[in-house]
Amino acid sequence: MAEALKIVLYPDPRLKKSSATIKEFTPDLRELAAQMFLAMREQHGVGLAAPQIGRNIRLFVMNATGNPEDDRVYVNPVLTEAEGDDEAEEGCLSIPELRVKIVRAKRLQMDARDLEGNPIHETADGFVARVWQHETDHLNGVLLTDRMGAVAKIANRGLLKDLEEQYRRATGGK
Ligand SMILES: [Zn+2]
Repeated sequence: MAEALKIVLYPDPRLKKSSATIKEFTPDLRELAAQMFLAMREQHGVGLAAPQIGRNIRLFVMNATGNPEDDRVYVNPVLTEAEGDDEAEEGCLSIPELRVKIVRAKRLQMDARDLEGNPIHETADGFVARVWQHETDHLNGVLLTDRMGAVAKIANRGLLKDLEEQYRRATGGK
């Protein structure tokens, strides 16, 4: 049995990289997605992108309801046809304890692949659309810290500084 995946935390540079397109739909990829669902559930998250477990490839998993039948995997997601604005609070498993209001498109389209390489074409609004945007951001190296406004940045400066300090210690003070 594989070891449980560890969530990569801010400000690890792997979270800031743009991730590579997936070209091969292998059994390893399916196993990785299964492990990501386990890690996501363990941390009570609704979504988890591959860079958050240290893999810079374009894949994320999500479950917007908590029901196992709503598990979704998107490979090479592309979001289009964004409509409307919607502000709501978000958190991120890679930035523990941060809760910030973020403006996202209200409704959009998703083109992606599933784990077998079959095309996915879906439309969503509200919470699901928000998760799509948050997780696709991860694949482009974009974090909540890049999206939040100036006031939120000031309000959360201490929390982010603490995470930066923990990272420095964990990586040997570099
Ligand atoms: Zn996140």
